[in-house]
Amino acid sequence: MNLLADLLSFHDRVLGTEWHFWKVIGWLANAVFFSRFLVQWYVTEKRKQVVGPGGFWGLSLTRSLLMSAYAIGYNKDLVIIFAYAFTWVPYVRNLIIHRRHARGHQTCPQCANGCQPGARFCSACGTQLPPANAMPGRDVS
Ligand SMILES: [Zn+2]
Repeated sequence: MNLLADLLSFHDRVLGTEWHFWKVIGWLANAVFFSRFLVQWYVTEKRKQVVGPGGFWGLSLTRSLLMSAYAIGYNKDLVIIFAYAFTWVPYVRNLIIHRRHARGHQTCPQCANGCQPGARFCSACGTQLPPANAMPGRDVS
């Protein structure tokens, strides 16, 4: 029992670590980073192909921002600060591309199947889809 108590609480530490606000931010960043793996795994298994879903990039961006805050607010080590200073750039780019792709999907007027952007025919029923510029509210940028 003493061993367990010593492991969980040693002086003012828990699990041998001093806890404060910035430690919580740093560990939260680690938890977010791990959770993106679970999201990617789930979506990949669901679609039966390797994919990088929007949630994966959103969690990556969240982790990048949390680690940047930790590095600047607590660690103050330039190596760590620069390690996370620009990781957000590809995450934001991938989120923008993901959003454009999602908005480009067409709904089949015959069977309501979600068809790939640029598709000329519905993959489910074969109905010819209207041209992209004929879709109301369609952003083709
Ligand atoms: Zn259809």
